[in-house]
Amino acid sequence: MKGIYRIVILAALLFTAMDKDLPFSYASELQAAEMPILQFPVMSDIHICGQPRIIEKVPICKGNTDENFLKALEDYQQIAPSYQAIAIVGDLTNHGLQDQYNRFMDLLFTGSNPGAERILAIGNHEFMEMKLWNRPLLTNEMLLMRFLTKTGKGKIYEDKWILGYHFITLGSEGMLQGNHNAPYISDAQYRWLELKLSLNAAPNKPIFVFLHHPLKDTVYGTERKHDYFDGKRLKNILRKYPQAILFSGHSHYSLEHPKTVYQKGFTMVNTSSVSYVTTHKGRKRGLSQGLLVEVYKDRVEIKAREFSNKSWIKTFTIPNEISLPHQK
Ligand SMILES: [Zn+2]
Ligand SMILES: [Zn+2]
Repeated sequence: MKGIYRIVILAALLFTAMDKDLPFSYASELQAAEMPILQFPVMSDIHICGQPRIIEKVPICKGNTDENFLKALEDYQQIAPSYQAIAIVGDLTNHGLQDQYNRFMDLLFTGSNPGAERILAIGNHEFMEMKLWNRPLLTNEMLLMRFLTKTGKGKIYEDKWILGYHFITLGSEGMLQGNHNAPYISDAQYRWLELKLSLNAAPNKPIFVFLHHPLKDTVYGTERKHDYFDGKRLKNILRKYPQAILFSGHSHYSLEHPKTVYQKGFTMVNTSSVSYVTTHKGRKRGLSQGLLVEVYKDRVEIKAREFSNKSWIKTFTIPNEISLPHQK
């Protein structure tokens, strides 16, 4: 017995000594090893175009950036090989043409994690055929149907639960005459959104919402743009859910800016663009950007990525149960 006691005491002493000698960095290494519950890329504005060509006197796809899409998908495979979902927030194609969708889907299947849920939102460029060419017989309904058929989606607006988290995709139901920078969201879609948001909503669990068009005067790139989506009704719906995080694209504005994440009643996030990136000073040549979202029990980390040199731009952390300063 004595011998056993001695071993126990010795082991306890040894453990205490080891504990005291633990390097300080051990604790931070443990933290670094914390695995996210859910990991998903969010990309936008892919603008798949195809070879330069002339269609009915309109030259298209000069200087296309199609290869950026595969490069970005390959980068995600390196940095987050087990991601469980992938979201692309509109402008999948440059003109919404059949062959552009085919190429987009081919590249998506080739480059993305086969087990990942796919979240695809429609952008204004998916309606571009109507604007660029004279097509009197082409309707918004036909272009919506093309989007659904080509992407394999059931509805323009839909929701999914992924590992216990709610993902809600919104989408324009047509190209608005005179303002291509605003979506047409029907009364039915708004009412559907209100209903879906209320289902199993918990204050400490983020709800992820996707819409191509950003809200005016919110994230970087939406300042003072007179024709942007003012989205009052959408804002009023989402501000009842401070845990909502709305991802948008469209502006192509760079992720370096602090207003990549903007909070007012809820959180809004700019996704920039895979095809080309812009700032107030104009296009930034050769850049291609997107996000990696990591969900932890107590927070969401939004990591901005530059695909052209495979580097991190910055990380934005959104704690759960956020009490926004302006919130009453
Ligand atoms: Zn775009
Ligand atoms: Zn757009």
